[in-house]
Amino acid sequence: MLIDGHGRRVNYLRVSVTERCNFRCQYCMPEKPFSWVPQENLLSFEDLFKFIRLAIDEGIEKIRITGGEPLLRQDLDRFVAMIHDYKSDIDLALTTNGYLLPETAQKLREAGLKRLNVSLDSLKPAVAARIAQKNVLGKVLEGIERAQEVGLGVKINMVPLKGINDDEILDLLEYARERGIKIRFIEYMENSHASDEIRGLYGKEILERIKERYTIHRLGREGASPSYNYRIEENGYEFGLIDPHKHDFCESCNRIRLTAEGHLIPCLYFDEAQSIADAVRAGDIDAAAGILAEVLRDKPKENRWSETENEGSNRAFYETGG
Ligand code: SAM
Ligand code: SF4
Repeated sequence: MLIDGHGRRVNYLRVSVTERCNFRCQYCMPEKPFSWVPQENLLSFEDLFKFIRLAIDEGIEKIRITGGEPLLRQDLDRFVAMIHDYKSDIDLALTTNGYLLPETAQKLREAGLKRLNVSLDSLKPAVAARIAQKNVLGKVLEGIERAQEVGLGVKINMVPLKGINDDEILDLLEYARERGIKIRFIEYMENSHASDEIRGLYGKEILERIKERYTIHRLGREGASPSYNYRIEENGYEFGLIDPHKHDFCESCNRIRLTAEGHLIPCLYFDEAQSIADAVRAGDIDAAAGILAEVLRDKPKENRWSETENEGSNRAFYETGG
């Protein structure tokens, strides 16, 4: 079992397989970064898997593959199969922008993936194109349909932005409800890479929009996840809200992150990280285990929102995988 320096049980690993992306979302990667991580610095699936196997053996029970856009990584289904074949009951999921799902959903399902989250910020083609800076909506909606057809469980993530898509909170909620999909609204998290002009909505403002149509009841946390569940009285539908500006977010934090070049990150809002790249490339699993233990020991108690309000993190979401 993995326990961090503050007594929290860590059983969730998020693995970013690439920082590259085919979208340029205003809140994440509005411009192509000055330089990408050189291809040769990326860990191969085999090397990433060496760490994942160790992490599973030590007590990781949930793994999310993310990015950048994870479906840009060639043959991602092979990576999914490696994890699934090692431990078929691992809670394995993927977060994607959905654009490449029409052609990859079937292979991912066959490789053992059971569920995924798709980021969907608008149902209006022009608004989706404004946020992602690309004409994306058709393929994303087709991707969601395809994923459901092949039997993948789908959740939707929406980041409401003031004056851009905040008038669509209810439309997206209805879209998801009608398809039996859970939607989670995520507060925009300020970070130095995002576009200067955008402003997010606080959780309570998001809930106000939903209360214009419905009576809602707060249920509680979705496991150890940062998402709070809410139920709509009129139809029983449940949705989630992730509001990291509240500090209770960290009390039950159960996660660590691994980037595509092998940085092990204990907290999204701290710049500290340690590299397991050399250890796994050399096949030195004891050294990787030592680094994992150190990262857990030093995992911060709380994120830094209170210190950096309205500035946010310097770490790019596309690097850490959100
Ligand atoms: N490209 C994939 C996607 O968009 O789903 C996976 C990576 S993306 C970094 C993971 C999640 O982080 C997405 O749901 C995205 O909406 C969210 N995200 C990115 N930047 C964010 C920000 N500044 N505030 C809140 N959520 C953000
Ligand atoms: Fe790409 Fe996802 Fe970031 Fe959008 S949120 S730019 S799709 S990594």
